[in-house]
Amino acid sequence: MHVLVTGGAGFIGSHLVERHMQQGDSVHVVDNLSTGQRTNIQPWVGSPKFQFDEADILTWGGLEKASAWADRIYHLAAVVGVFRVLEDPVRVLATNIAGTERLLRFASAGHWKPQIIIASSSEVYGPTSAPLLEEEAMLYVHSGGKSRWSYAISKLSNETQGLAYARQHELPICIVRLFNTIGLRQRGQYGMVVPRFVQQVLRGGPLTIYGDGQQTRSFCDARDTAAALDALAGLPGAAGEIVNVGNDREISIRALADLVCERAQRPVEKKFLSYVEAYGEQYDDIQRRRPSLAKLQRLTGFRHRWTLESTLDELIAQHRDGSEA
Ligand code: UDP
Repeated sequence: MHVLVTGGAGFIGSHLVERHMQQGDSVHVVDNLSTGQRTNIQPWVGSPKFQFDEADILTWGGLEKASAWADRIYHLAAVVGVFRVLEDPVRVLATNIAGTERLLRFASAGHWKPQIIIASSSEVYGPTSAPLLEEEAMLYVHSGGKSRWSYAISKLSNETQGLAYARQHELPICIVRLFNTIGLRQRGQYGMVVPRFVQQVLRGGPLTIYGDGQQTRSFCDARDTAAALDALAGLPGAAGEIVNVGNDREISIRALADLVCERAQRPVEKKFLSYVEAYGEQYDDIQRRRPSLAKLQRLTGFRHRWTLESTLDELIAQHRDGSEA
């Protein structure tokens, strides 16, 4: 199979690349390395079945040809990470919306119809405290909203673009709402809490907890995410659908901090910072985030292979031996 991964040098994308390279597929990655890293794809550089273009999805001259070549496209190229989003919301909207339009236009113009996965995000559920987030839920946005929501709105736009192309051009497109993904190769510099806590604990602390730490998230290992995306992409029943992808074990950020200390066997100090101190005025936090996985399981029979503890243990071990700087 020929697989195109936009944003494939990013942390999640690189897990998809790894999976497909292991399956013997041909993989073409395009990434502008804005948050992605060359080291994430280094193991496959030089392989005859692997090609990498360092280019921007908005301007890359090879996108038309690569879309026509692909049997399957994972569209992950986007501006991501809370710090990035707060810093440059204009770029978030431009890249995420125009990049998706450009990709879908080329993919729909070819002679055959590639399977397409479009990465959306649990951010689209917005500032809800519903205990379980289901795909059919009504979604709310604040009018005149803060910059934080520019990412959610760009992803809602991507969902609508994907569904419109699926209907009008009969393309097999599946939209995946990704919930907090974690794992090897993820970096903490753009906000993500798990790599930050792992680095902080190994440096002797303190762990920086934003808000009171009662807010919850549900963390999914990127290898599970990649397996779920692979299963959905190849499933005719998933075409035209929006599907949550994540793990439904919910944990508060304060309990996560305790768990990281426990797994690293290093009880370090916790430092509480207000959201304004952490992110400035353009941020609202989300109190709860737990996916309903009923649809994913009904469509694919998906079961997770990694627990939060097993992923943390691997991350801690990798950071300890210096192989994850
Ligand atoms: N967070 C934290 N300390 C940090 C980084 C993040 O307490 O050093 C909190 C953040 O405010 C949020 C949660 O951890 O409540 C998850 O943050 P992340 O940016 O990883 O994901 P998202 O907010 O997109 O779910």
